Amino acid sequence: MTERADVIVLGLGVGGEEVADTLAARGLNVVGIESNLLGGECPYYGCIPTKMMVRGDDLLAEGRRIPGVAGESSVTPDWGPVARRIRKEATDNWDDRVAVERFEKKGGRFVRGTGRLAGPGKVSVNGIVYEATRAIVIATGTSPAVPPIPGLREVPFWTNREAVKVERLPSTLAILGGGAIGLELGQVFARFGVTCCAEMASSFASTSMPTPSSGKGVPSPSTWTTGSRFVRTRCWWQPAGEPTSAISASRPSASIRPRGFSTPTTTSG
Ligand SMILES: Cc1cc2nc3c(=O)[nH]c(=O)nc-3n(C[C@H](O)[C@H](O)[C@H](O)COP(=O)(O)OP(=O)(O)OC[C@H]3O[C@@H](n4cnc5c(N)ncnc54)[C@H](O)[C@@H]3O)c2cc1C
Repeated sequence: MTERADVIVLGLGVGGEEVADTLAARGLNVVGIESNLLGGECPYYGCIPTKMMVRGDDLLAEGRRIPGVAGESSVTPDWGPVARRIRKEATDNWDDRVAVERFEKKGGRFVRGTGRLAGPGKVSVNGIVYEATRAIVIATGTSPAVPPIPGLREVPFWTNREAVKVERLPSTLAILGGGAIGLELGQVFARFGVTCCAEMASSFASTSMPTPSSGKGVPSPSTWTTGSRFVRTRCWWQPAGEPTSAISASRPSASIRPRGFSTPTTTSG
């Protein structure tokens, strides 16, 4: 079975959604195909939930800075409100109904499924071939990469997708990868009381080290360069969430045993 459209948008993350919405609103016959959630990584697993997490950890850090500056403070972290806000206010419990309706109200045709190119101008999904008379837009984005570390797939681990869904925090967390996202999540969880450790290749850390928002005790990028891309650098956060001054190159550790760690599941309501 073949159906025709002016434009087919494959993947409706922030990029694809914007293109599909705009073209549909301008009167083109648009088919939008999405395998997961309309809106993609940013609203459900990326920018928005992580910025809600950062908002929470920044408040904790600010509260802890009151002594010596503006009086006394006693700060007790509670992850519950953060998890609730992400689930209810940001992601609607990881439900994209509102986004689908918004697209359909603009005149778009929404198809849930994994699309595949099926020849020039053609995309197949769910046994139907859609043929585009004007264009196919490929906006399939990215998904978390799981590195080929022996044994990793045999233990429970999170990617960013599980990290934003967590309702109860573990007591310790090892973070593999010290780019912007790894360090952002390390700072968040540490400020909420989790003992965090980031493991990273030195060359990676030296090019992608952001400044944690505390701005305190942050090593300069050159501190991270150890001269060998295979030497790992390890950064520990104290439970209150500020990075320790001790940043050291270390031999790869034999094992990492996080405590109190479980894979989050989505709760309803
Ligand atoms: C933890 C985290 C924090 C971030 N924080 C920020 C931030 O603060 N600020 C910022 O600007 N950016 C941030 N980003 C980056 C931002 O999320 C991405 O840049 C953005 O989501 C990219 O949008 P996209 O539309 O290109 O791709 P995506 O959001 O990846 O969307 C692609 C969509 O295509 C779908 N798809 C893939 N293949 C198919 C197929 N064959 N058929 C149908 N559908 C398919 C996927 O399901 C997905 O929904 C963050 C990312 C992460 C992971």
